[in-house]
Amino acid sequence: MNLQANAASVTDIEEIQHFINGRRVAGASGRFGDVYNPGLGVVAGRVPLAAKAEVETAIAAAAAAFPSWAAVPAARRAQVMFSFRDLVKRHIDELAALVSSEHGKTLEDARGSITRGLEVVEFACGIPQLLKGEFSESVAGGVDSWSMRQPLGVCAGITPFNFPAMVPMWMFPIAIACGNTFVLKPSERDPSCALRLAELMKEAGLPDGVLNVVNGDKEAVDTLLTDARVQGVSFVGSTAIGEIIYQTGCAHGKRVQALCGAKNHMLVMPDADIDQAVDAVMGAAYGSAGERCMAISVVVTVGDAPADALIAKLLPKLDALKVGPYTDPAAEMGPVINPDAKARIEGCIASGVEEGAQLLRDGRGAVVAGAEGGCFVGATVFDRVTPGMRIYTDEIFGPVLSIVRAGDYEEAVAMINDHEYGNGTAIFTRDGDAARDFVHRIQIGMVGVNVPIPVPLAFHSFGGWKRSLFGDYAIHGPEGVRFYTRLKTVTSRWPSGIREGAVFNFKAGGEH
Ligand code: NAD
Repeated sequence: MNLQANAASVTDIEEIQHFINGRRVAGASGRFGDVYNPGLGVVAGRVPLAAKAEVETAIAAAAAAFPSWAAVPAARRAQVMFSFRDLVKRHIDELAALVSSEHGKTLEDARGSITRGLEVVEFACGIPQLLKGEFSESVAGGVDSWSMRQPLGVCAGITPFNFPAMVPMWMFPIAIACGNTFVLKPSERDPSCALRLAELMKEAGLPDGVLNVVNGDKEAVDTLLTDARVQGVSFVGSTAIGEIIYQTGCAHGKRVQALCGAKNHMLVMPDADIDQAVDAVMGAAYGSAGERCMAISVVVTVGDAPADALIAKLLPKLDALKVGPYTDPAAEMGPVINPDAKARIEGCIASGVEEGAQLLRDGRGAVVAGAEGGCFVGATVFDRVTPGMRIYTDEIFGPVLSIVRAGDYEEAVAMINDHEYGNGTAIFTRDGDAARDFVHRIQIGMVGVNVPIPVPLAFHSFGGWKRSLFGDYAIHGPEGVRFYTRLKTVTSRWPSGIREGAVFNFKAGGEH
């Protein structure tokens, strides 16, 4: 999108396009969505919302490109990934500005998220090694057995607004390196970076049709979920939508992974290093304005002492936190994604007050000088939150932290295990026994020990438990390769001259 839109005098509304079969195409449905510059709170672009026929055109391009792309040797597919990696590195400032202008996060944060996406591309560069099968010689006389992993065909990705570069890069590099073709439906709230990434993939040598980007809403997603040519669907977004995506995709015979919402607890033990814990909370609760699926939104303390100590050191830091648009290099926390999100988050804060939590800092009505219309919510913290409250049960997805005081360690563990979400959690302690027990017993997919945001690196896999993930596969890393491929096992007899006559009964292994 046009970066000039960040200037205070926004006059031009940019019209965003799709990327189908190797080129940008204008939307044909006549339906559009607003893309905001959240730092200014103004509409800066119009995104076309694809009709069924447009999505079908993208699926057709991907289906046509599949046979020849799947036939390209893995080592040559990897070469495209190496070139793409170089191009993204060269264009990282441009890409980060696209992310920040539509999402609102700081440039440094945007660059960091693109770098995390690039690490998945680097993982995908090793695809010849990752696709190696297994071989057993002479499982019976003259019989060998071996396995291989083959691509699924056309795969689709449906991604959320909060990581407009990184989350698509969790998906398409591995899918494509495995030999699939891909249709990406990015968030309609910040779609421009995904389009630029698709162009860079083309520049890296990817044939037309292998990666397509269609913008849209439910109509586009429903088409991807029901079209028989789509074999696999990766979704990242909210639980309410992800559950429907999983059920609909599965009902239409597709392999589906749906990574969903979260409420990540940080457990602070009485022996924790409080300075370390406070620094961790600052970054993990308020970085990217809390719009991260791995954000810490609940601190549970064992007893009152760590809560009191943590609050005493946290509040001055919150008061000093610099909130502003990404164009302000001093800004540490940007706006939320759009005016609706700001109103929704402020409503959540109001509900916490109504339900009796103690509001220590109130981010409602935040105004930033020079960006008065921006979608800012200040850093907010509640103390004495209890598990029945809406601010505890719901994912707020904003800069709002709840502090819950547990009576003892067992109560804290039970609380975390009872929550419907199971994406991430962390324990802060100096006690190895407690840390080991926590890691073992906690019902959460990603666990940190004195690490607040335990996001696995690209060569491991990312995924939550409970209602934070529907499906059998986590994303990227080894699970990503498994998700985007099917296992085929071959049993072959050479030389062909060995004859044993017709066999009517099953035999034991080794007696083929
Ligand atoms: P969202 O669920 O509103 O949207 C995600 C995608 O689904 C978008 O592409 C959107 O266009 C599409 N969509 C929205 N409504 C739809 C409908 N009715 N039918 C079909 N498709 C629809 O999520 P969001 O607000 O963009 O992102 C925030 C959410 O994503 C949070 O819940 C966050 O926790 C989650 N998230 C999870 C992870 C993870 O790895 N678990 C990572 C990032 C974000």
